[in-house]
Amino acid sequence: MAALTTIDLPSLQKMASGKVRDLFSLPDDPDTLLFVASDRLSAFDVVMTNGIPNKGAILTLISAHWFRLLPERIPGLRTHFISLDVPAGVGPAEACAIRNRSMQVRKLEVLKIEAIVRGYITGSAWKEYQAKGTVHGLAMPEGMQLGQKFPEAIYTPSTKADAGAHDENIHPRDAWREIGDKETADKVEGLALAIYDAAAAYAEERGIIIADTKFEFARDWEGNIYLADEVLTPDSSRFWPKDGYELGKEQDSFDKQYVRNWLIREGLEAKEGVAIPEDIVQATSDKYKDAFYKLTGKTFEAAAAPS
Ligand code: ATP
Ligand code: MG
Repeated sequence: MAALTTIDLPSLQKMASGKVRDLFSLPDDPDTLLFVASDRLSAFDVVMTNGIPNKGAILTLISAHWFRLLPERIPGLRTHFISLDVPAGVGPAEACAIRNRSMQVRKLEVLKIEAIVRGYITGSAWKEYQAKGTVHGLAMPEGMQLGQKFPEAIYTPSTKADAGAHDENIHPRDAWREIGDKETADKVEGLALAIYDAAAAYAEERGIIIADTKFEFARDWEGNIYLADEVLTPDSSRFWPKDGYELGKEQDSFDKQYVRNWLIREGLEAKEGVAIPEDIVQATSDKYKDAFYKLTGKTFEAAAAPS
């Protein structure tokens, strides 16, 4: 099956297009959005010219899995998830194209913060730690090794840059400046850590270490806070296989780290107009499916089959 990299639904109005998802408004329901995940892949903030077949559906079904599970484990947690149903009014051919990759969500005001939680030291956190002994300005124990678990998970937010710009790491104490008020910032930090802890425990029982992840939160007009966007997918997180975990080295991962590593090897990091070669596409697709199976207990093919 070919990758689906552009999504147009003539019966619905496209509201916005992100690096991976397209957002459509529903004519009869101003409070709901249709969130459609394409097969596009972005790495180092650049979208590759080709996609990973089925990636959009894998991400949507993984997010839906968490949106159903997390509120059971975190009392009072609100999420933007409404349903996986394709809305009435979408024609049969379009409905077929977006089945499993679309999600109806509550339309909300997204907070201007990338709510990142890290359980293990890697990536930009490892770079900062090596240079300064800190992570997002937070003092860390001496002598940590690459890939080591933090004594407890840490909240390390970054700014949510406009398209074309890069997010900047910030100290958690400054997150409220992006959000607007301290009370909301504290709530977001508490929720992000609670969700990470619950998800990390769940995933670890299934052989996946969630090294770090990024959440987005949103609010309604009454000020209630919701978990929004995609959640705990291989795109928004670093997933490591638990059985291959080894301290002091880069871990093999279930996520797009595979593509990132290839880009670095080829010196194509952050370059525009790059196509991922077929073997890397296939390997990445296998990784996404493997993560799907481990997290949900079902093969992607079985979960995606019409019921
Ligand atoms: P951006 O478009 O901000 O650069 P991105 O490339 O990660 O981010 P996608 O993931 O492709 O974007 O698209 C999802 C977009 O939808 C994001 O901008 C996200 O903030 C926004 N979003 C998520 N949940 C909601 C919601 N409930 N209501 C409105 N917008 C939302
Ligand atoms: Mg996104």
